[in-house]
Amino acid sequence: MSDRYYPNYCDGQKISGESHFSVINPATEQLVGYAPTSTDTEIEQAIASAKTAQIDWAARPDQERKDLLMAVAEKLQGESAALAKLITEEQGKPLCPLGSPFEMQAAIGWTQVPASLDIAPEIVFEDETRKDVLHYQALGVVAAIAPWNWPLMIAIWQIIPALRMGNAVVIKPSEYTPLATLELVRLLNEILPAGLVNSVTGAGDVGQKLISHPDIDKVMFTGSESTGVKIMQHCAPNVTRVTLELGGNDPAIILPDANPEAIAEGLFWGSFLNMGQTCACIKRLYVPESLMDEACDALVKLANQMPMGNGLDEGIMLGPIQNKMQYDKVMSLIADAKQAGGTVLCGGESPSGPGYFVPVTLIRDLPDTARLVTEEQFGTALPILSYPDDDLEQAIHRANNSPAGLGASVWGTDPDQTESVAARLNAGTVWINQHGAIHPMVPFGGAKGSGFGLEFGVEGLKAVSQPKIISRNKA
Ligand code: NDP
Repeated sequence: MSDRYYPNYCDGQKISGESHFSVINPATEQLVGYAPTSTDTEIEQAIASAKTAQIDWAARPDQERKDLLMAVAEKLQGESAALAKLITEEQGKPLCPLGSPFEMQAAIGWTQVPASLDIAPEIVFEDETRKDVLHYQALGVVAAIAPWNWPLMIAIWQIIPALRMGNAVVIKPSEYTPLATLELVRLLNEILPAGLVNSVTGAGDVGQKLISHPDIDKVMFTGSESTGVKIMQHCAPNVTRVTLELGGNDPAIILPDANPEAIAEGLFWGSFLNMGQTCACIKRLYVPESLMDEACDALVKLANQMPMGNGLDEGIMLGPIQNKMQYDKVMSLIADAKQAGGTVLCGGESPSGPGYFVPVTLIRDLPDTARLVTEEQFGTALPILSYPDDDLEQAIHRANNSPAGLGASVWGTDPDQTESVAARLNAGTVWINQHGAIHPMVPFGGAKGSGFGLEFGVEGLKAVSQPKIISRNKA
């Protein structure tokens, strides 16, 4: 087998598989490598191996688990250059500081933090007759279903807290971006006991078989709302717990006292980090009429300064859309926006040649009913929508008028006003003068259709644990 074939791991052993699928570089449409198509038997074996390994892992002292996970962080640090390059090749985000090296640094940070956290038993009630203590224990086997936008970072978000709490994991990466994850699983298997982290690969049906299995105790899912609904349906018969992170349609509101020039860079990367393929990116921008021209000009200027191309090339700041399906979706939303009367300030046309490139496309004068406003674009296109300076209520109402509720942001200089607008935006996280600024200690999760369950910090550890009360009779 050539080194372009990436195996799965089960019980610490390489599983090369009988058939394979190709993984394509979205910047060149050339082959990056092959991943196995897991069979039903291999899925069964991965789950069985995790189930066996979990018993010993959960019985180990906490400190041992923490030390091993810290060793994983060190390993990732040592391998980060190679992994970043592979992420760029299969996912498309550039090798620039805000691209794949950023994803690797995040993966390391999100390993170190859960590895260093503890959940102390909590006395929830005590009097002279009784003492009730809340403990958090391992659940068992966690199935991780990861998407293609931040393949390695999100895999880490799903795997490391689960391991920290004494669970074992079977991960199914997206068929578009499995290779860096398979490398991650290989490295994890160099450090952790055999069977603790196993992988299966293939299309959505492989994920569905995994999460429907009665020996799966928890599903960590990040992806689309429609697949999230299917996950819930298939988890229901076994009462399998789920955490769903289903993306968003995040609004950002600029207040009339803001300085558009000063905040433009924050708005730009808040919208276009990872080419806008980030669950908590700005996807609708609301601007007071008086600042509209200035804000549009500042954003267009930045868009024109950011080189887009093959992320392996020097100086590239923006890459392609990750896959053809998503590219077609973004282009159809842009076409619809043009038809709906939007004014295209920059971008709008795809260049000829290979690769799924969509230049940064800023569109103003759109009605709220345009699909680019109502749907999650997940790409390099942004509607810039105006509201009357004296009607902030209207902006808040329009920002909240979405089935999604992952993130939101408010930008202005008056602390009281930004705080009061933040309080009224209906989202899992509302940022002030920043957007998408997640942190491994700060819980993150959605409101409304963006899903439920928290990740990160102590709350994230609780999400992969079984709460258990031990109640003592003191009488
Ligand atoms: P999906 O939700 O289909 O994919 C997410 C993961 O779920 C992938 O690993 C996928 O595998 C897997 N999967 C698909 N079907 C099933 C199933 N029935 N049971 C279990 N697992 C399954 O996202 P898409 O790739 O279709 O992207 C569509 C839209 O989703 C995007 O346009 C974007 O709006 C949103 N999205 C949001 C993300 C976020 O961060 N919240 C991330 C990615 C997408 P496979 O890829 O192999 O099919």
